[in-house]
Amino acid sequence: MSKSQISLAVPGVQNLHPYQPGKPIEELERELGILGSLKLASNENPLGPSPIALNAAMQALSEMALYPDATAYRLKLRLEQEYRIKPSGITVGNGSNDLLDLIGRVFLQPGDEVIFSEFAFIVYPIVAQACCALGTAVPAKDYAHDLEAIAAQISPKTKLIYLANPNNPTGTAFSQTEFERLMSAVPETVLVVLDEAYTEYIDDDSVPDGLDLVGRYTNLIVTRTFSKAWGLAGLRMGFAAASEQLTDLLNRVRQPFNANVAALAAATAVLDDKNYLKRSIETNAQGMRQLEAGFKQLEIAYIPSRANFLTVDLERSAKPTYEAMLREGVIVRPLGIYNMPNHLRVSIGTQAENDRVLDALQRTMGR
Ligand SMILES: *Cc1c(COP(=O)(O)O)cnc(C)c1O
Repeated sequence: MSKSQISLAVPGVQNLHPYQPGKPIEELERELGILGSLKLASNENPLGPSPIALNAAMQALSEMALYPDATAYRLKLRLEQEYRIKPSGITVGNGSNDLLDLIGRVFLQPGDEVIFSEFAFIVYPIVAQACCALGTAVPAKDYAHDLEAIAAQISPKTKLIYLANPNNPTGTAFSQTEFERLMSAVPETVLVVLDEAYTEYIDDDSVPDGLDLVGRYTNLIVTRTFSKAWGLAGLRMGFAAASEQLTDLLNRVRQPFNANVAALAAATAVLDDKNYLKRSIETNAQGMRQLEAGFKQLEIAYIPSRANFLTVDLERSAKPTYEAMLREGVIVRPLGIYNMPNHLRVSIGTQAENDRVLDALQRTMGR
């Protein structure tokens, strides 16, 4: 593109590097002329969809000639029943990524500061930069968010703080005590976004449940997704919970039809499939133990994780191993864009899939 056209974009976008998703299976197979590849690169649910969600989505497709319900009436009622949050405090999103972006567009103006942790989800700096805000990455402590350092970073310029609990790509989580201490240091004019994309995998009362806290903090926005433990990544559905006033502001900018008919129906239905959720969590816990044992045997270091992936530290550039694994038809996630060039993130799969990752790692690393 000619330089003159780049200058048409707002300053933040001119220097923006786009989000790089995990390599799609189809692309790898086309490039290598192989079949039967395995993708453990985007933290998707290895169980495939819940049959209840699939059935609801298929039924809903008969309505695809009509616009979806812009108010998401039925889903919000179901969310209220499930999580005791008011429909007037819920914003639906085309995945939670949509909401992370919407929050930036509603609240940020050029020059505002956005704080997030080093090694936190890459979408936060992207949103900040696209809004011409100033992103500040606060150094992590043992790969985890350092909430004390984040509190110390707050200045009159600070408008937004993004936190991921558990965090992607490190899998670390902070406690309710740490979170409450942070919130008491945050002025009410600074918004805190608590991204709980992996919270379903946590069975630990010391970790906060953001949905229980939105009533307590007027400056807190909690985001949740149906993409991980609920198995609906391809349909795109997430929601944000916040005060009625913040929710009203978000809905002024939200595109009215950002959540489609199939996604709304599947999300509403899947909340009834507790058996699916239970199997998601159990499969993940077993897979976590399996991969941890495998990594130990291969003498590969990993960051202990509370989510549905494990990040390994190869203690040298991970790129050759990533590429050699691709040639074996196994896609994992390199983390160079996170400034973690020696790490690979492995989504936890089924037992057979985890075996295949461990085999591929062993062969490609010559262990
Ligand atoms: C996967 C993920 C999301 C969810 O993205 P969706 O747009 O809901 O699919 C949000 N935050 C983090 C930290 C994630 O890893």
